[in-house]
Amino acid sequence: MSIPDDLGLQATRREFLVGALAGAAALALPRGTYAAEFHRFTHGAFDITVVSDGFITLPAAVLLPDATPEERQPILARLGGDAAGAPVQANIPLIRHGNDLILVDNGSGTRFQPSAGKLAANLKTLGIEPEAITKVIFTHAHPDHSGATTTDDGKLLYPNADYVVSATEWNFWTDKDYEAHMPAALHGFARGAQRDLFAVKDRLILVKPGQEILPGMQVVETAGHTPGHISLELAGDGNLLITGDACTNDVIFFEHPAWHFGFDTDPELALKNRRMLLDRAASEKIRLLGYHWSYPGFGYAEPKDGAYTFVKD
Ligand SMILES: [Zn+2]
Repeated sequence: MSIPDDLGLQATRREFLVGALAGAAALALPRGTYAAEFHRFTHGAFDITVVSDGFITLPAAVLLPDATPEERQPILARLGGDAAGAPVQANIPLIRHGNDLILVDNGSGTRFQPSAGKLAANLKTLGIEPEAITKVIFTHAHPDHSGATTTDDGKLLYPNADYVVSATEWNFWTDKDYEAHMPAALHGFARGAQRDLFAVKDRLILVKPGQEILPGMQVVETAGHTPGHISLELAGDGNLLITGDACTNDVIFFEHPAWHFGFDTDPELALKNRRMLLDRAASEKIRLLGYHWSYPGFGYAEPKDGAYTFVKD
């Protein structure tokens, strides 16, 4: 199969424009829109383009369950939302490494919120057909991360890819007794995860924390959001952590690291692993790339008053 060896002249030009604007307010997109540009950079042996899947809107009670009404309002306003909730981006890293062309998560597809599911169209703009993708690595199997696995007629959208998922995540969602011991509110998520995971069972690579997926790309334990949630650590000039939903917002959970997130399966474990991740990222000056953070979701955690501030790279 042929893999385009650059991401297209148009992308290069866009990248130049984005680069020229880097650091300027022009990159601070209104939250209810998504990026038409493609943020591209190299990290060690990895060539990374952050491709938007669009955005989803989360209810205030999910984003900020621990905040008082007085605390909620200004934060929701900063996120571009209102009293009901706020939009959050969906940033998908497209990673070229040797002959591999890798997606970290594949987005919402057509079955979640219509403001998301833009990944395949944006890849086409970059000159990348679905057949060119060689690996899809799932941080976890929530509908906004694995929802584009199959097309509406049940075929694999990325038919030539191998699918990497943590063994714990696989076991959690595919447990035949899932509905007996999980609350009814999570049964819909499980049906979606089972649809996506069983669809790739013949192309599956199960991994564990500490394992290398590729030379220089290691699986990092960040359980809690889901029991098998993983992040990826990429070696380079200083490391890069692709954090998935280990930290779901670059404003709320950097500034309030003790607050819970409403969609975490194990809230205390999620909180503990998020604090460890941000502590480590801040002390070791690790670059971070977050899925739901303001596009392109790429930057650093800087300590501030016992919490953190997100500094775009
Ligand atoms: Zn998510």
